[in-house]
Amino acid sequence: MDILVKCRKCDTENTVTIAKGGDSASPRCLRCDDVLMRYTSVSGYIYILSNPRMKDLLKIGLSTRSVQERIAELSSATGVPLAVQRALGSTDFDK
Ligand SMILES: [Zn+2]
Repeated sequence: MDILVKCRKCDTENTVTIAKGGDSASPRCLRCDDVLMRYTSVSGYIYILSNPRMKDLLKIGLSTRSVQERIAELSSATGVPLAVQRALGSTDFDK
């Protein structure tokens, strides 16, 4: 995946290619060689959960396991019944 990163030092926009899960990197600005960012990529799912009992709230998170496992974990840890109307995993965005 490519993202645009503006250099804090010289204001140049750089295209940075994010590596797949497990890799770390510190991409540098093509113009001034300043470090643009440091990251470690993680494979997983970004999810958005809603609950009809709490209509004004959304739970947004990242799970390295399946979204269904995360929902079960949240329901047991918080005691809040998560009657999930719709759960979007990041794989949905590929479709
Ligand atoms: Zn720069």
